[in-house]
Amino acid sequence: MAKMNANFLNLKENYLFKEISKQVNAYIAANPNNKIIKMGIGDVTLPLAPVVVEAMKKAAEEMGSKATFRGYEDSGQGYDFLRDAVKGYYRKRGVALNNEEIFISDGAKSDSGNINDIFDSSDIVLVTDPAYPVYVDSNTMDGKEIIYADSTPENGFAAMPPKSHADLIYLCSPNNPTGSVYTKEQLKEWVKYAKKNEAVIIFDAAYEAFITDPDLPRSIFEIEGARECAIEICSLSKTAGFTGTRCGYTVIPEELSFTAPSGEKYSVRKIWARRQGSKFNGVSYPVQRAAEAVFSDEGIKQCREIISYYLDNAAVMIKTFEKLGISFTGGTNSPYIWFRCPDNMDSWEFFHKLLNEAEIVGTPGSGFGRNGEGWFRMTAFGSRENTVEAMERFEKMMKA
Ligand code: PLP
Repeated sequence: MAKMNANFLNLKENYLFKEISKQVNAYIAANPNNKIIKMGIGDVTLPLAPVVVEAMKKAAEEMGSKATFRGYEDSGQGYDFLRDAVKGYYRKRGVALNNEEIFISDGAKSDSGNINDIFDSSDIVLVTDPAYPVYVDSNTMDGKEIIYADSTPENGFAAMPPKSHADLIYLCSPNNPTGSVYTKEQLKEWVKYAKKNEAVIIFDAAYEAFITDPDLPRSIFEIEGARECAIEICSLSKTAGFTGTRCGYTVIPEELSFTAPSGEKYSVRKIWARRQGSKFNGVSYPVQRAAEAVFSDEGIKQCREIISYYLDNAAVMIKTFEKLGISFTGGTNSPYIWFRCPDNMDSWEFFHKLLNEAEIVGTPGSGFGRNGEGWFRMTAFGSRENTVEAMERFEKMMKA
């Protein structure tokens, strides 16, 4: 008889976005003619940059011609043209990589969920709380013990290393949901902790492209010593609007190794390559060409314009929060604004107030972990017009 993986019974119900859409749909059914402004889900709204679309079209044409058709990709790790482009992107920031260290993926969600395959089930996993839910869910599926580092108003929602031991550490900067960004000094502390504990940091840099402050690190590999203790996972979803196109990359440095009980060292990169070789068949050729175009000079320019548009939305939101004296993190160097619910309301109470009184949808912070209770997330991924209107409604509601 086939037995289920009983760890799945330990997963919390995927409640947050289901519950939000249930409540929003009920509101729309009761108020069919009203305009609801959605600032909850972290999906982008602007289309792909023109240079990206052109590259994808050209690649699709190539796939339709016998002379240029491509089947399975040999390495499964990504075509060299794209790995060269990623390498060049990092080089501009002073980070040197080689192609073997770069794994092209179908996005950061799959890799941040799958990477724990190569770690032992007895490893202790450290997650900062609140967090993007995939880290907890995927490690729960594997039965790993999870401990938490608290992100709180006192530390600016940027949790620092605990005293207790962990083997695997998930960090996300700029952070979803809190919008906080680690400084170089803070990341140095995490690298120091990882080395002391012989742990591996999984650094989720899905929002690195939103960092405009040149002093803030966009990659963990800007920190000395990170090559011996970190894996970086990144995505073109928010960098270039690839949420529906699907492409990302994971970087595993040559220096990163596991030490077996025998004392023998095993390359983490090679083990991940072995795992991917068996379970992943790569990203489609047209999408890899589209991704290559993101990293061209013109692609970077066009994608930066799109990101600036979202950051300008965030600036509109910040202005309103500052005016109203609401405490918040994020909004600069991040598309997320994370703010305290007014009048000591809990996250869901405020969700209902916002929906019923201002017809705005946001995300209750409690859905991201226990430290999210009493906090709320809004995104800057909407249109300017809707962002401005939402902030006018928000201000009116708060002053009522
Ligand atoms: N990591 C974080 C922190 C995210 O917020 C998201 C998406 O919202 C992802 C990863 C997933 O990215 P992708 O679309 O590349 O799977």
